[in-house]
Amino acid sequence: MGISFCLSPAWIGKTALEGQGGASPQDQMRESGPTVPGLVAEEMSQTLQQPDGKSELYFSFGVIADIQYADTDDRLNAWGTSMRYYRHSLCLLQSAIEEWNKEIPCPSFVLQLGDIIDSSNSVHKASKIVLKCVLKQIEKMNVPFHHVWGNHELCNFGRNFLTNSALNTKHLEDKTVEVSASATVSCHEDVNPQHFYAYHFSPFTNFRFVMIDTYDLNVVEKDVSSTRYEETKEFLRMRANRSPYRWQDDEAHLLMFNGGFGKDQLDWLDRLLTFSDENKEKVVVFGHVPIHPESKKRACLAWNYRDALAILQAHKCVVCYLAGHDHDGGYCLDSHGIHHVTLEGLVESPPGSHAFGTVHVYKDRMVLHGRGRTTSRVLYFRRDQ
Ligand SMILES: [Zn+2]
Repeated sequence: MGISFCLSPAWIGKTALEGQGGASPQDQMRESGPTVPGLVAEEMSQTLQQPDGKSELYFSFGVIADIQYADTDDRLNAWGTSMRYYRHSLCLLQSAIEEWNKEIPCPSFVLQLGDIIDSSNSVHKASKIVLKCVLKQIEKMNVPFHHVWGNHELCNFGRNFLTNSALNTKHLEDKTVEVSASATVSCHEDVNPQHFYAYHFSPFTNFRFVMIDTYDLNVVEKDVSSTRYEETKEFLRMRANRSPYRWQDDEAHLLMFNGGFGKDQLDWLDRLLTFSDENKEKVVVFGHVPIHPESKKRACLAWNYRDALAILQAHKCVVCYLAGHDHDGGYCLDSHGIHHVTLEGLVESPPGSHAFGTVHVYKDRMVLHGRGRTTSRVLYFRRDQ
């Protein structure tokens, strides 16, 4: 089945072709794909209509990041580099949902990549009421949202609250595949606030999506009684020993608003991806914080991104990593043929613009149809699978 797009003229963004289909794995071993300026809707549509059965659409899904809604006036970000439109972000979420619901075929699910409301809400003791406003919009979506937890979720609520909230979507997990991380952590357990928040699901034969918790280790939560707190303390102590007076340049991402991965989670991820390798699946991994230094500015990387990246690169099933957190967005194709896409933040989209996308999945590629500030991309799967 072929598809055609109706690209909303006001929201047509840039388009890029990444890891093109005819390229060898060697050709694909480059760190950043070329943007193709001026590639318009018609040309993009042609890339979707390919012969030899590759134009059959398998499924689609929505992506949105850093909604960061707050009932507060617009203001510059902490670095003073760009404006944040806090109230307007709710209107943009509403229009994204309306557009997804109208799409034919409708996306099968939406990945909300974290920071759904702004941390300033906690200062005004408005976190719960503001979250309710956002969830009221999300209820209008015809398909499920998968909610990632970012630093702003943890700042507003903490893990205990989130575990029992509508932002916990672990019930959408694929329960037919059992992959335990250790004797004490099973992916089938209900979310335990002491454990990481991560799960996986398979929306289509031979495709798997894996949510990872990029704040498994963090200093955003202040629960000193948790095992996470002890592991975080130890992690930071080890890094401090290496650089006692100041972080080295290559540790410039060890900032409070980033987080990292504990050993249990990395172990779980490794085992799950081994399962996917053995079953010849294609895997999309997603989390709040980027894990590749070329996909975003270093200040926004996960603390031990090297550990997570090494695991992803050790498994040929992995085709893409999706993140938010850095509102400018970003992209790179890594040396193993994995696409790293950092989505532009909704909260920094001014009136008249937007930042969300629909990803269409085919046999040999994913096509990100971005709106507004979200760059449209054609992401070819690695050829070594
Ligand atoms: Zn964030």
